[in-house]
Amino acid sequence: MSGCPEELVRSFPDRLHGGKVNLKELLPSELEAFVRLLGESPYRARQLVRWLYVRRAGSFAEMTDLSRAFRQVLEEVAALPTLHLASPEESLQDTTKFLFTLPDGNPIESVRMRYLEHLGPGRLAVCLSSQVGCAMGCEFCASGKSGLLRNLQAWEMVDQVLAIQRLVDPRGERVANVVFMGIGEPLHNFRNLLRAIRILNHGDGLGIGMRHIAISTSGVVPAIRRLAEKRLPLKLAVSLHATRDDLRDRLMPVNRRWKIQELLAACRDYQAATGRRMTFEYVMLEGVNDSLEEADRLVELLGGIRSLVNLIPWNPVDHPFFRRSSKSRVQAFQDRVQQGGLRCTVRREKGSDIDAACGQLRLREIHRHADGSPRTEVPLAPGAGG
Ligand code: SAH
Ligand code: SF4
Repeated sequence: MSGCPEELVRSFPDRLHGGKVNLKELLPSELEAFVRLLGESPYRARQLVRWLYVRRAGSFAEMTDLSRAFRQVLEEVAALPTLHLASPEESLQDTTKFLFTLPDGNPIESVRMRYLEHLGPGRLAVCLSSQVGCAMGCEFCASGKSGLLRNLQAWEMVDQVLAIQRLVDPRGERVANVVFMGIGEPLHNFRNLLRAIRILNHGDGLGIGMRHIAISTSGVVPAIRRLAEKRLPLKLAVSLHATRDDLRDRLMPVNRRWKIQELLAACRDYQAATGRRMTFEYVMLEGVNDSLEEADRLVELLGGIRSLVNLIPWNPVDHPFFRRSSKSRVQAFQDRVQQGGLRCTVRREKGSDIDAACGQLRLREIHRHADGSPRTEVPLAPGAGG
């Protein structure tokens, strides 16, 4: 056989890589269709899933329980791309940051978090990017500055997990939790996101439970509703950051399209459909959104939603007038929200809190701590994300 047969190209037109079928883009059911088209038994698909996601083979040659003839066919028609680690990993306490290069040369980042109390020993959480850059343009976020370059494909999201898992294998650790909280707006990349989640979740592969997968969104209301319709028990975190539309309009352009009440109505429906508690993220900006009046309004707004409010100390990005709220203001805000009857936590800045995931934010901090000199920016063109 020479090159990828027409039939395969026609069957998987959106799943090609260098003219061949990208096996890492296929759902397990599609892998089955793929091996059938090659005249093989469906059992081969299960073998492939194990090679791809459990043993994490880098080549077909490693797949020694497949016949030599079948491996040769796979070489001709199928591709197994991988992400490349672009720079040495950088660690800050229990958080480690990875910079990867995609096949087209674009960089993305992921963060690994260790020792999350609730995960148990040897269990890790990773924070994934979903896009190269971000189109949402939030005022306080670095990735808002230079826009969206492209969506990540599903395999480019899953491969962040595979690459990290490969690195921690020797220590017997396992990625048990995934949060889409790196660069990009995951719900803007809905189809690829869902495909990635289904691949991460598949029992014969990585087997990461839906309940252990979280998505953070700036509030793309129709996509929240679409996600609710899927009735998957995924955790949803919503970046609220303001309690009045006029302020949220300025901080997050997405609010000009979908107002706070519309967003919260979608959150209520999401909760009704999935049974999951909602998380609301709230970046603390001094004198902008951190007054006690705001705290009271937040309590009022979230009435009737089973929720956790996560206060995030703002990580400075170049901005003419934003300042991070002082510790005492954050504390007072937290107390007030708790007095109102809501659960409210403060994102630990250097700790092992899962929500400390934010990719680029960690990198900035790591750099500052690594050499003690003024922060150096790692080139994360275009833009970098929350
Ligand atoms: N785009 C998605 C997910 C990635 S951002 C979203 O916006 O929800 C993850 C979180 O980091 C969001 O709550 C985001 O608002 C927040 N964030 C962005 N820039 C930040 C900064 N400079 N300091 C602290 N948090 C920031
Ligand atoms: Fe995009 Fe999230 Fe940053 Fe807003 S906060 S620009 S949605 S990454």
